[in-house]
Amino acid sequence: MLPSVDKTKCVGCGNCLRVCPARAIKLKEGKAEVDPSLCQGCLLCLAHCPTGAIEAREAKKRTAPPISHREGKGETYELSWELNEIRMRLEGIKRRLALLSQRRR
Ligand code: SF4
Ligand code: SF4
Repeated sequence: MLPSVDKTKCVGCGNCLRVCPARAIKLKEGKAEVDPSLCQGCLLCLAHCPTGAIEAREAKKRTAPPISHREGKGETYELSWELNEIRMRLEGIKRRLALLSQRRR
């Protein structure tokens, strides 16, 4: 599955760019745009879009090799995906803690 951006719903918040492990998304004129040649199909972008602007569509064929092959770092794509998930969760926890400490003041 590959992501497809509905530009009428995209508000340009950049969440999808930040979570994309393949750096396959760019903002163009304030709207997210996916480069299918880089996309790995993890759909993290879809999960983090606050407006539901990203939908999954059937991929015709895999257009890019795994990140590990492209970057030659010996890092598996799955590991990269999981690390990114953990990073996003930690950022969420940090944001919630910051909010809680502000409320206590
Ligand atoms: S996360 Fe959604 S609303 Fe935000 S830039 Fe990406 S597609 Fe647009
Ligand atoms: S599906 Fe994954 S790799 Fe593709 S654009 Fe979304 S976050 Fe990036």
